[in-house]
Amino acid sequence: MELTHLPPAAIPELARRAKALGALVVVHGETPVEPVIPGTNRAAVSCPDVDILGHPGLLTEEEAAIAAANGVFLEISARRGHSLANGHVVQMARRTGARLLVNSDTHDPGDLLTPEFARKVGLGAGLEPDELAAVLEENPRRLLVRLGYRAD
Ligand SMILES: [Zn+2]
Repeated sequence: MELTHLPPAAIPELARRAKALGALVVVHGETPVEPVIPGTNRAAVSCPDVDILGHPGLLTEEEAAIAAANGVFLEISARRGHSLANGHVVQMARRTGARLLVNSDTHDPGDLLTPEFARKVGLGAGLEPDELAAVLEENPRRLLVRLGYRAD
């Protein structure tokens, strides 16, 4: 479930309810192209019920550090427009240890990623080969553990 266009103060309660229903919880972050209310990024990374902050745009280093502390993944987006800030998101993750995922932000079946295109998106965002392996293999496994679909 992607929570979008909410007042930031409403995110914790709605994320908690979505999580209780079994959803993987994504928050639509402060992307450069489909803006949401400022403060959305901070509310999302501060909420333990949020799994992924989608297309976080020009998130701050402090927000990335909070994401790292709370285990909230940051999206490297394959979606046109959202992807404009991918390089910045990688930099913030490197500085803070926040974990990244390459994600499609799929709206239509044609948006789904092939493994090869996911690699291109990651490399295009500036990931080094060893970082790319973590982002495409290790971090999705960590997400499945977080969601309870996989043992450690
Ligand atoms: Zn979105």
